[in-house]
Amino acid sequence: MQVAPAGVVIVGGGLAGSLLALALREQGATVTLIDPLPASDALSCSATAMSYGVLPGWPLASTPLARLAARASRQWHRLQQRHGDLGWRSQQLHLHGANAALSAVSRWLPFAQVDTAVLMARLPLVLAAAGVQSVSARVQSLASVPAGEGWELGFGDGGALRAECVVLAAGAACRTLWPALPERLRCSWAAVLELPAFPPALGRAAAWLPQRFARVALERRARTLEQVDWVVDSGLVPRGSGALLGQLSLIRPGGALEQPPLPAQSEEELRSGLASDPWGAAWARQPGRIRQAAVAFCSGGAPLVGPVPQAEGLWLFSGFSAGFAQVPVLAPLLAERLAAAPEPAARAERRLQQLGVWPVGG
Ligand SMILES: Cc1cc2nc3c(=O)[nH]c(=O)nc-3n(C[C@H](O)[C@H](O)[C@H](O)COP(=O)(O)OP(=O)(O)OC[C@H]3O[C@@H](n4cnc5c(N)ncnc54)[C@H](O)[C@@H]3O)c2cc1C
Repeated sequence: MQVAPAGVVIVGGGLAGSLLALALREQGATVTLIDPLPASDALSCSATAMSYGVLPGWPLASTPLARLAARASRQWHRLQQRHGDLGWRSQQLHLHGANAALSAVSRWLPFAQVDTAVLMARLPLVLAAAGVQSVSARVQSLASVPAGEGWELGFGDGGALRAECVVLAAGAACRTLWPALPERLRCSWAAVLELPAFPPALGRAAAWLPQRFARVALERRARTLEQVDWVVDSGLVPRGSGALLGQLSLIRPGGALEQPPLPAQSEEELRSGLASDPWGAAWARQPGRIRQAAVAFCSGGAPLVGPVPQAEGLWLFSGFSAGFAQVPVLAPLLAERLAAAPEPAARAERRLQQLGVWPVGG
């Protein structure tokens, strides 16, 4: 049995776990980050790796969190100044399905994208340079040690680690590790087509997005679903030297993780959905590889950030529906709450309350 150095152990090295680890290092905390995969190989199973990574520079709702998230690009800019390239850049937006006036205006809106090919390649280097201790392993069990002595994490290879403070940032796998999480944390399966190149017919690489994402409405009605439901959004964004096309979102009743859908079936549903969309039809038969991942989301909208009720020393950082906008603004606040001196930590907690993400059981 290994004992983690005093500090914070984070389970999950996607966007949430990685940006929280960096923010904790800025607070001077000792951080251990556990994830089964080298990040650059994670394309087939992490939501972060196959995300569009887009960041609208305006609020998508009238909540305090949405207003703060609209300024996430500043935070990405700051992270890049500190750690080097993370794939963030301003990007041109083309909206389809909007009226002509809005379509014309869209390309002048403040808009950015994190290229997840760059992010996934750079994260392991950036984390190591920042002093984060990375452990390549899958956590298979999580148990509290009697007498409030922390947590024991069991690994697939039979190894174990004991830690005082554990943050679950394992996306859709959080509930598998600790079932007593709030019901509103659910999960969907997402699929995209990975194209080898950005279609030359569209000119300069840019984000081509629908005016509204059907995924958001599907997530809102997740709690009332009585049978499996799915939607297809026809977007296209550059990624590395290629592009990501379309977005299939599938939710099962109850929102449990369960088995992934068959890739061939996901591809068929994704291509059929594109074919039935006025903009997507032209791209429905583009050659590309199907990628799918389980994605955590909260049916109520706001993510879950804070201590898990009745589980001292266990924290949750998950359920983001727009993680690229929400995680970079919330990670520094959670890091302050976890690792700063009492006064700034209390200020950070009040700010998380104002943003409607704290407490987790609320
Ligand atoms: C197709 C698609 C497009 C999207 N587009 C956008 C967008 O344009 N803008 C936006 O803001 N958001 C977008 N999102 C949402 C965004 O990608 C997510 O909110 C974000 O990536 C979630 O990050 P995460 O770290 O919480 O989860 P994940 O990326 O799922 O990371 C979880 C990590 O936990 C690890 N893990 C799992 N189980 C264990 C275990 N037992 N032990 C240790 N580690 C474990 C996994 O390996 C993984 O690395 C999109 C999502 C999808 C699927």
